[in-house]
Amino acid sequence: MRTVIIGANHAGIAVANTLLDNYTDQQVVMIDRNSNLSYLGCGTALWVGRQIDSYENLFYTSAEAFEAKGAEVHMETSVDRVDYEGKRVFCTTLSGESFEVAYDKLVLACGSLPISPKIPGADLDNISFLKLFQQGQDVDRMLGDDSCRRVVVVGAGYIGVEIAEAARRRGKEVLLFDVAPSSLSSYYDDWFCADMDERLREGGIELHFGERAVAYLGEGKVEAIQTDAGEYPVDVVVNAIGFVPNTALGEGHLELGAGRAFRVDEHQRTSDPDVYAVGDCATIYSNALRAETYIALATNAVRSGIVAGHNIAGAELAAIGVQGANGISVFGLNMVSCGLSVKAAGRAGIEVEWTDFEDLQRPGFMRENATVKIRIVYERDSRRIVGAQLASTEDISMGIHMFSLAVQEGVTIDKLKLLDVFFLPHFNQPYNYITMAALGAK
Ligand SMILES: Cc1cc2nc3c(=O)[nH]c(=O)nc-3n(C[C@H](O)[C@H](O)[C@H](O)COP(=O)(O)OP(=O)(O)OC[C@H]3O[C@@H](n4cnc5c(N)ncnc54)[C@H](O)[C@@H]3O)c2cc1C
Repeated sequence: MRTVIIGANHAGIAVANTLLDNYTDQQVVMIDRNSNLSYLGCGTALWVGRQIDSYENLFYTSAEAFEAKGAEVHMETSVDRVDYEGKRVFCTTLSGESFEVAYDKLVLACGSLPISPKIPGADLDNISFLKLFQQGQDVDRMLGDDSCRRVVVVGAGYIGVEIAEAARRRGKEVLLFDVAPSSLSSYYDDWFCADMDERLREGGIELHFGERAVAYLGEGKVEAIQTDAGEYPVDVVVNAIGFVPNTALGEGHLELGAGRAFRVDEHQRTSDPDVYAVGDCATIYSNALRAETYIALATNAVRSGIVAGHNIAGAELAAIGVQGANGISVFGLNMVSCGLSVKAAGRAGIEVEWTDFEDLQRPGFMRENATVKIRIVYERDSRRIVGAQLASTEDISMGIHMFSLAVQEGVTIDKLKLLDVFFLPHFNQPYNYITMAALGAK
């Protein structure tokens, strides 16, 4: 059985590992147009902001590691076209050689592409996306140039916020723009976004929310950004306005679903039974929405890759859906969430209630302490938990995993009220914030 995997990043890697590590009868061909694989994009801001020593450890595997396991790997090779009838993929190498590969099963792990703002001047120099390792290198190099004093980040989602912090840590003047009224508005409710906005302001970042970029100005290289509210001089621009699924290879053949990604079933199978799609190019099932959705995260890429791998090898395994669990840590403020915020539930037409609680994490007598705030969102009629958000300067990240499970399993808010949550002053209060928030639910 020969499986050809197009795209050898997190999702493609998970498919290949699943096939090669668990089954002996699998022939695996991996094809990627990039020169590297397994780059952890989440490390770009840490490295650019000099919070880690180098980018070298941001790769967790290599083409050689897969070759050693028996895979045929073609890096710097683009797949230009797929013949779905004849089950062949047509490739071109960086040096211009063409070849084709036949498959029994095909995996599309082609990922996502950064959204390019359709505004004049978008192709000027010193404007970069922040997806690939190479783009991280470009931004790092531009920030290292002494003439770079002012950096504009367009898009205040988690990637924009993180790179804004990084540029500030490199001593730059940083302006952060978004059409939304706050940072992180897709993931958190205003109660939380306001904290992040304050942190960013305290960190020295100039916030321009509710403002739309309309043009980049300059001769050859970007010199200013024009928005619907003003014009600002700038030396470097980072575009972080989001991603779209890369579905070019399936056009006209494969069905698309939420977010215009390849529609997959619970086995990661597309509308063509011999073709699977995984990671950022595929839809995913949301347990909060109880519907198909699109969430581009490395965690989902890996899980969907594992599911596809086992099904390709003949061991039936159904995906269990996701909660879009995520976290962010910027200027010492940690925020984690999963499922739906109140805003997101409203957008999806789900009627919800929510319960908020804010207190010190530990009893007041503990020297080391910090405020924690929590919101639990539950469906009005069924009372099942559909989301949670937490924020603190402490590490409160582990709590969100429990909420992720609660959303997945349809646990009601009432079940949480008397849950056995341990108490130890080093960690929490006798009346801990999870119980207190749950008890606050009417
Ligand atoms: C700056 C940044 C920070 C992030 N931080 C986090 C985080 O903290 N946590 C988290 O969970 N996620 C994070 N993500 C998201 C995560 O990186 C993506 O969800 C993940 O990369 C998706 O993996 P993938 O393999 O599906 O797609 P991709 O990483 O997009 O990989 C797709 C691969 O397909 C190849 N390809 C595409 N088309 C072709 C073709 N025609 N021929 C050959 N090769 C092709 C590409 O070269 C690429 O290597 C972050 C992303 C960025 C950009």
